[in-house]
This record gives sequence, C-alpha cells and structure tokens, in this order.
Amino acid sequence: MAAVKLRNISKFYGDFQALRNIDLDVADGEFVVFVGPSGCGKSTLLRTIAGLEGSYSGLIEIGGRDVSRAAPSERGVAMVFQSYALYPHMSVRDNMDFGMRVNGVEKSERDRRIAEAARILQLEPYLDRKPAHLSGGQRQRVAIGRAILREPQVFLFDEPLSNLDAKLRVAMRIELESLHRQLRATMIYVTHDQVEAMTMADKIVVLNGGRIEQVGAPMDLYHRPASRFVADFIGSPSMNFLAVAVEQEGGQGAVARYGDARLMLPPLAAPVEGRLTLGVRPEHLRIGEQAGEGMAGTIEGRIAVKETLGGETILHIDTRDGDRVTVKTDGESTVRPDEHISLAVPKERIHLFAADGAAIAR
Ligand code: ATP
Repeated sequence: MAAVKLRNISKFYGDFQALRNIDLDVADGEFVVFVGPSGCGKSTLLRTIAGLEGSYSGLIEIGGRDVSRAAPSERGVAMVFQSYALYPHMSVRDNMDFGMRVNGVEKSERDRRIAEAARILQLEPYLDRKPAHLSGGQRQRVAIGRAILREPQVFLFDEPLSNLDAKLRVAMRIELESLHRQLRATMIYVTHDQVEAMTMADKIVVLNGGRIEQVGAPMDLYHRPASRFVADFIGSPSMNFLAVAVEQEGGQGAVARYGDARLMLPPLAAPVEGRLTLGVRPEHLRIGEQAGEGMAGTIEGRIAVKETLGGETILHIDTRDGDRVTVKTDGESTVRPDEHISLAVPKERIHLFAADGAAIAR
C-alpha cells in the first residue's frame, strides 16, 4: 500500500476552473473521504488522481513515485464506480478473473485470489451467476472484488453506494469499513453524504468550489469547523445560524444580542464586536431550561413542526425574530406544535463566524 501526495493540483474545463491549487497528503493505509456539495470538484479530484482527466497541472505522487504524467494503468490505483461497470455476459467469477487473465497471472494463482476475495466479500454463493441475477449490493461487491484483485496501492471509490437503497447503503458502509480494516489499504472515497463521511473516514476533506475548505478527523470538523460552510455541511440536521450583534461588557466578556435575548459568549482568542453569525447545533439546544450554570442564555420561540422519529424528535421552532431553528431531542418529547418554548444555549457549544464565513477562534 502507499501514501498519496498532491501538490498544487489545478484543473480547467475550458475557462471554468474545477480544481484550485489542491495540496493534500493521504497517509499509507488511511481512509480519506472527499465530501462537498454537487459540483464542488470531488469527482474531478478523484479522477485526476486516477489519471482519467486529461490536462491538469500539479504533482501527484503515489507510494513516493511521481505519477503525474503516468497512464491510469500505471498508477497502481483501482477505481470503483457508482455504476459498477461489470461485464453483463460474464459470470461473477469471470468478471473477477478478467483483469488478472489479461495480465497473464497463472490460473492456479487467479483461482486462489478469487476464492480469497469471494470469502472476504461473502460472494462465494454467487460466483457462477451473471450480474443481472444479483442485487445492487451484490453487484457492488463484485465491483469491489475486481478492484481488490488488481492489488492496487490505492483504492478510489466514486460514490459507490449511491445506487443502493437506504438500508443496503448502511450495510455496505459497514462492510467497506471492515474491508478497510482487513486490507489496511489506502482508500480515497468520494461522497456527498456527510453521514458516510463521518462514519467511514479517518480524515475528511471538505471541498467547496474546487478548493479545499478544511481537512481533519471527523470529530475535529464537527467540534471545530473552520468556516460556516464546513459547520453547515458536517452534522445532521445542520447547525443553526443566527445573526447576532456582539458587544464587549466590561469584566463579563462578550455578549451576543439576538432580539431581546442576551447570550453570554465563551472566552474568545481575541475580542470581537459587531455583526456576527452565531452557530449552535440542533442536538446542543436544551428545551425549557432556564439559563443557568454553563448556559449562555435562552432564545424564545414557538414550535412550528414536530417530527417524531422514534428514537429522537426533531423540532422546528420559529423564533420571535423570524428565524427557523432546529432542535434534536429525545424520542419521548411531549411538547406540542404551537406551544411556546424556551431554548437554552450551552455556552461551550456556541460557534461564531465572521461576515466572510471564517470561524472566530476560541
Ligand atoms: P457531484 O456530487 O454532483 O458529482 P462533484 O463535486 O463530483 O459533484 P465534479 O463532477 O467534480 O463535481 O465537477 C466539478 C465541476 O466541474 C462542476 O461544476 C462540473 O459542472 C464541472 N465539470 C465536470 N466535468 C466537466 C466537463 N467534462 N466539462 C466541463 N465541466 C465539467
């Protein structure tokens, strides 16, 4: 397996710049996930690493070897696509065998490797079936099996689970995580699903408009988003954002005014004042609690919508100041639509963002 190093990667489609000066290090054996909204450039970046994009500038090293100008087959990567790309007229066994046969691997060695991949991926019962007679999840496992048999230095996955239904996605996600543990392979995985990113990644790369917005471990991005964009993208339901006016108050530190509410801010790295955005996650707001120990203050509102999900309840609350705030609470919540409600904001859970979206340091 191998580390991947990207330096100053830029890519244009005509006048449009799809990738902007991307620098990234993926460690040997790491599971790295590229996330971001549609069009942010994540597939383009993955395809560039694979050698599937024609012209780009910058350096790509895989396993210490400069592959910037190498053909896809010479880069030591195997890519798994959303569409599986299996040969429909061949059995599962032949689909898995094909690449090795072309490369002149001995028959006994090919059989041994197919048996091993089929065991890891639980495909043994299906080896003689054609792809048309497999479920979506089984087809995707065959595509992954084919990638394993190429014995790549790096696995590249382009939204491999997005054609599967919700339940199967979860099951395959868990299988991929266990595959990563078994193979200890370097894997780069593209998704627009932040839940997949949070659960699978050692390291998440958030892309925005062809740029890297932030790189970090999942919980780093959750607790310390560097920008409003990352704060909004990571976490489900999304973080709430409120426009506040921040004032310094003598020895007390800073206070954020939101309508009638006064929210005491946590200590900041440097004093700030003026119009800022306050962020707080739905799971951190507390219902009906008066401001007290550890609380910054309370926000008043009215319950507009209650979503009962069994294990948890999502409340959509209209504040007096015309914002819609989301709250995630336990499944046994007895509050009702139209009820007036107070939301306590824990001080340590507050995020602040400047007008340009940059997080204000604590
Ligand atoms: P999605 O989640 O929708 O697949 P993505 O983040 O993977 O999005 P890319 O497919 O990498 O996005 O595309 C990045 C940008 O480059 C988009 O704005 C897209 O329209 C543009 N783009 C991609 N391929 C081409 C192409 N062949 N010609 C012109 N523009 C392209």
